[in-house]
Amino acid sequence: MLYRCTDADVEFKRSTSRRGKHKRGTAKREAVQAHILSHNPTISHYRREHAPNRLYLPSDLCEKRMHQEFSETCNMKVSYAFYCRVMKDMNISLVKLGHEQCECCVAAIQHRKQSGHQEQLTEQNFSCAVCVAFTQHIRAAGESRSAYREDGEIVSPKTVVLAVDLQKVIQIPRLEGLKSVVFSQRLLAFNETFAPVGKYSQKYPVIACVWDEAISGRSAYDILSCFHQVLLRFKDLDKVTLWLDNCSAQNKNWNFLIHLTLLINSSLVQLKEVVLKYFESGHAFMAADSFHAAVEKGMHHGGLVITTPDFISVVGKAKKNVEVISLYPNDFFQSSITVSQYTLNLCRPRPYIEAIKKVVLKKGSYEFEYSSSLGTTAPINRCNLFSKKQQKLVIDNFDLDKTLKRRKSPCGIDKDRKTTLLNTLRPLLEETKADFWTNLPESK
Ligand SMILES: [Zn+2]
Ligand SMILES: [Zn+2]
Repeated sequence: MLYRCTDADVEFKRSTSRRGKHKRGTAKREAVQAHILSHNPTISHYRREHAPNRLYLPSDLCEKRMHQEFSETCNMKVSYAFYCRVMKDMNISLVKLGHEQCECCVAAIQHRKQSGHQEQLTEQNFSCAVCVAFTQHIRAAGESRSAYREDGEIVSPKTVVLAVDLQKVIQIPRLEGLKSVVFSQRLLAFNETFAPVGKYSQKYPVIACVWDEAISGRSAYDILSCFHQVLLRFKDLDKVTLWLDNCSAQNKNWNFLIHLTLLINSSLVQLKEVVLKYFESGHAFMAADSFHAAVEKGMHHGGLVITTPDFISVVGKAKKNVEVISLYPNDFFQSSITVSQYTLNLCRPRPYIEAIKKVVLKKGSYEFEYSSSLGTTAPINRCNLFSKKQQKLVIDNFDLDKTLKRRKSPCGIDKDRKTTLLNTLRPLLEETKADFWTNLPESK
């Protein structure tokens, strides 16, 4: 997880360089910064686009606890207020669930304060680019919201509608119940959730794909591997609709679309149609959120989460009807069939991934349909992502599995990091839990 360190370093340097003038208190500030960074803040995958510099700390930490720990372990006294201020200056937040604010809406409020423009478009502001863009944003948010609600109102036969999201910043072991210990680099765990929308939740379970960073990372292909698993799980249905976060590059790229096209056209699934729908950025309030909140609650109250199997068990019990797919290295793949820029440029009209709000894939077709709005009257375009050579390849007796390069072994974590973790953990753990950490694979 290279980006974690890099992002934190960039942020760290940026905030220190800004403060070159204030010599007094620099040592204290730097000590606090180093302490905060040692808790391993991560960038939230789907906030990159809107708040690229904001870093997040896991939800089992709080400023009080961190300040207390700082006072106990560092030979330095700083006030609680100072500690919090440094954290704020570093642009680091503690994750709060369900209180995500839309950056576009926040920026628009700011804009209206400064310009005196009204929220509604009037003669005064109809030529203001910010106000026009905001009006479109709000309209699109409304459209996606009502399309989402509608999708969950009636259960159609042989169909499922799922909202998909990656739970944010889970680090294990969780600190609840453990005495204050500095964990320099805890293990990241991932939960890609596929939650049935509306009435579908009475018929289908929540599917949670769970793994940790010693097994594989969370690249676009790692996430795609989860989609692959879940579509296999629903292979006997006719139609699967997936509601996705629009900001996450993992959910939205050409290789993702070409793979799903190959999957629906393979003999691995009976599915006739897969539909992808994207929420308006910043307005992705969905079924997966409430499941993630339930998992958080489970971690808070349900005993210690020390290992990945502990986490899996909490996820499995978070709601009544949950099916956990625990992913092994072998479940993760990269595809050898990818989309070339050249093929894309040949498409007429040339599709732009950012503009796509809905995609329809059908068995029997290597084209996909897409539209740039979730409104009912949105025009539909068609696009073929396969080069001539790829088209020949995929038509006759095509075996999708043979084109996938599967992970042969777990990716592991850095040896030194593992040693540090083990040394911190060993005195705290009973043997069975310690075994998990002792056997944690190391990266090569
Ligand atoms: Zn908004
Ligand atoms: Zn304006």
